[in-house]
Amino acid sequence: MSKVLIVEDEPTISRVLTAYLTKNGLHVEQVFTGRDALEMFFRSRPDLVLLDVMLPDVDGWSILSDIRKKSSCPVIMLTALGEIDHRLKGFEGGADDYISKPFIGEEVVARVKAVLRRPIPTVEDHTLQYGSLRIDPVGHTILYEGEEVELSPKDRSLFLFLVQHPNQTFSRDQLLDHVWGFDYDGSDRAVDLSIKRIRKALRLSKDDPYAIKTLRGLGYQWRVQTKET
Ligand code: CA
Repeated sequence: MSKVLIVEDEPTISRVLTAYLTKNGLHVEQVFTGRDALEMFFRSRPDLVLLDVMLPDVDGWSILSDIRKKSSCPVIMLTALGEIDHRLKGFEGGADDYISKPFIGEEVVARVKAVLRRPIPTVEDHTLQYGSLRIDPVGHTILYEGEEVELSPKDRSLFLFLVQHPNQTFSRDQLLDHVWGFDYDGSDRAVDLSIKRIRKALRLSKDDPYAIKTLRGLGYQWRVQTKET
């Protein structure tokens, strides 16, 4: 069950929001001041925050900014002002959506659910480490002992594709489609040559617990040995 934290100083509004969200299968926690908001946020780790802009102590924007320093948790701003510059301020500050008051309960529920369905962009580290290799599939970088590995864009894409699907076998045709595109009409020998260049550039050896394996008649695989195998 997704958990929503409501930060709203007006008890009536908070109660109405809670009623709608609870009725729609969401778990709700309420706080009524900015100070409690941050404390509760880091303690209860909600899946989404409904954050009022006008609070008696700390304003919603600075709470948003404090949340964004440490988390990519979705935040929907509640604003009574309905002014366009506040809306923009919200998006620039990292808000995922805004709802202007007065609101319709069903609309709040729909927006909350829509935001919860979005994939969350994380600020976390996605890099993978294999021996001397450090790979960041998101940033498209491949480092060997801290030095950028020289690879053509296609070779790089092919390798990153394989790495993101460990222990899955892909045929040459599949790799051509994924990396070169459907309109590529060259030979599938392009894949073999690319794999050869990648192995060389990345100094991949057969003795490592990770390697690009050739599976005869099937294709290629980024094989990562786990302790059990
Ligand atoms: Ca308020």
